[in-house]
Amino acid sequence: MAAEGLSNIWLPYTQMRTAPMPQTAKRTEGSVIELADGRRLIDGIASWWTACHGYNHPHIHDAVSRQLREMPHVMFGGLVHAPALDLASRLARLLPGDLERVFFTDSGSVAVEVAIKMAVQYWINKGQRGRTRLLSFRGGYHGDTLGTMAICDPEEGMHAMFAGALPEQILADLPDDDASFTALDKIIADHRHELAAIVVEPLVQGAGGMVFHAPETLRRLRTLADRYGLLLILDEIFTGFGRTGSMFACEQASIVPDIITLSKALTGGTMALAATVARRHVFEAFSSDDPRHALMHGPTFMANPLACAAANASLDLFEREPRLDQVATIGDQMRHELAPCRALPCVRDVRVMGAIGVVQLTEIENLNALKAAFLKENVWVRPFRDIVYLTPALTISRDELSQLTTAIHRVLR
Ligand SMILES: *Cc1c(COP(=O)(O)O)cnc(C)c1O
Repeated sequence: MAAEGLSNIWLPYTQMRTAPMPQTAKRTEGSVIELADGRRLIDGIASWWTACHGYNHPHIHDAVSRQLREMPHVMFGGLVHAPALDLASRLARLLPGDLERVFFTDSGSVAVEVAIKMAVQYWINKGQRGRTRLLSFRGGYHGDTLGTMAICDPEEGMHAMFAGALPEQILADLPDDDASFTALDKIIADHRHELAAIVVEPLVQGAGGMVFHAPETLRRLRTLADRYGLLLILDEIFTGFGRTGSMFACEQASIVPDIITLSKALTGGTMALAATVARRHVFEAFSSDDPRHALMHGPTFMANPLACAAANASLDLFEREPRLDQVATIGDQMRHELAPCRALPCVRDVRVMGAIGVVQLTEIENLNALKAAFLKENVWVRPFRDIVYLTPALTISRDELSQLTTAIHRVLR
């Protein structure tokens, strides 16, 4: 093991003085992560829910290998290429309504940054000055860059600690009934002249704690956005590509956002790629004879051909294989097999949506001890805050999923 390199690595979200040593992964296959010491773990997380077809799917490998021989990368300024054009038109066809202009980036956070820039400049281009702020929701997660931190949950996004470094946005409670919608309506009315857009994760606030809401909430947010003439940005980086039971979560509410962000499962968990997709009217606000009306953004590795090839291959698999049926089956199995956790004294709630299973605890006293206990069971389950969750590959076998749910029950008991 290259253990000496550990003193040169800075790990994410980790207090490195007290955290246990990270495991070294050696290879992956399907829903299994093999460690350097030979242990084989059943993966309940699918690498932050990206590896939707399981690891090492041969179809994605073949597509990426072919692209690697032909052209691993070329700049996207002044040049385009077939993998990106194919992917853009396929995404436009898959997405509802006239979400048809695809801007590629290389991470989810940057896709959200681009969505924010699009929304703010949309109003500038339309000659409406001062509409520079965003409305987002407590419990939300939209990324780790400064612009996205400002629209995350204020505590998780460390707004107090980073005060002065973050733009001040408007944070509201995600409404779920008439009273809370009335309260939100008032907040929007008070800020109507300075707001550019509402940003929300549809159906599931993911990394903020896996909290679910009803499609009706989204429909009412769409109505509110329309009432005040605001853009509605849906961050589907967590929910996109089948995770909640439909290809995109917004389909369940039958609404079309003005801008949607995608990443995570876009390449089937193989490469960094993200997309910000805008509706026609949004794009048209940037289309004029004035060069200053152009969208001034362009990541160096934008629309990387390898990543686009992987994403196209991943979309092939969604077409050829019964992924959404698998999501339903996984959901049923988790509902059934996680239900006994409800009876445990440490458990506050058990909930399942699509292929997302959540066991919420009254509290997690020692997160590191809990993680170690799962490791002992030879499962890769990563509790955070007060939740233990499963977001497995959509191809996980019945048996592998049972090993995960059994381990959760055994460890929590
Ligand atoms: C993961 C995530 C992001 C950030 O994506 P990165 O690729 O980690 O920058 C943004 N929004 C949501 C909803 C996410 O789940």
